[in-house]
Amino acid sequence: MIDYALLMTQAAMLRRELGEDSSSPIDIFSIALSIEGLTIVYYPLGENLSGMCIKSQQGNSLIAINSAMTLGRQRFSMAHELYHLRFDDNMISVCAKKINSGIEIEKSADMFASYFLMPDAALMEMARKLTEKNGSKQLALNDVIRVEQYFGISHQAAVYRLMHTPYLGLENGNAFLTEAVRGKAEALGYSSALYRPLPEANQHMTYGNYIHQVEEALERGLISNGKYEELLMDAFRSDLVYGDDEEEGDVID
Ligand SMILES: [Zn+2]
Repeated sequence: MIDYALLMTQAAMLRRELGEDSSSPIDIFSIALSIEGLTIVYYPLGENLSGMCIKSQQGNSLIAINSAMTLGRQRFSMAHELYHLRFDDNMISVCAKKINSGIEIEKSADMFASYFLMPDAALMEMARKLTEKNGSKQLALNDVIRVEQYFGISHQAAVYRLMHTPYLGLENGNAFLTEAVRGKAEALGYSSALYRPLPEANQHMTYGNYIHQVEEALERGLISNGKYEELLMDAFRSDLVYGDDEEEGDVID
C-alpha cells in the first residue's frame, strides 16, 4: 500500500535538507546539483523511459533524465529520481515514462515527486483561491494550467495530483488529461517552455560530480590532457574542450 502521509513527510524532509522552504516553487535542476557526489546526465532515453538512478556504496551516484521529454516532465522526473536516491534501498532504478504506473515503488516515487514540487498546503491554498474566484467548487482547465505553471510541472502530473484533492473530480480530471494545453497556456500569457523539450542539439549534457572529478584529476596531474578531453567528450562536454561557439567569453554580471 502506498503511504501518502509518509511520502508527504519525506518530501518535506528532503526540501528542508536541501535548504528549501515548505511551500515555494523550486528550481529543481539547480537544487539537485547541490547534492554531493551526484552526477546528472541529460540524454534522450527513447519513448518508454523517463529516467534512472544508480547509486554506489562509495556515495557517488548518477541520475539520468530523458531529455527528449518536455521541460515540465523532466522536472517531475528529477524529483522522482531524487526519491530513489534518498529513500529507496535499491541501488539501481530504471523508470518508465507513464506516470502512476508500474510497481509500488514507482508509484511512490511519482507521488513523492508531486509532493516535492507541489507541497500540499501551498497547492490546496492555490486551488481554493482559484475556485473561489470562479465561484465554483471545481477547478477549470485554465486553473489547472495556472497551477502547473506556478509549480513548474507537466500537465499530466498536475492533473493526477489535483485529482487527489476535492478540487478536481474524476470526470473533469480524466477529460483534462487528454487535453493538449500549450496553446491555451500561451493564450493565458505564459511561456510554452514547460510543454516543449529542449532542441535536439541540446539534449546531451552532463553536470555535477563527474565533471568536477575530471577537472580535479587533470589539476592534480593524474591524467593527461588527451585523457581529460576524452573524458569530457564522453560526457558530451565538447563545450568545455573546444569552447562554446555562441559564447563571447565570460560575462561579469
Ligand atoms: Zn522510478
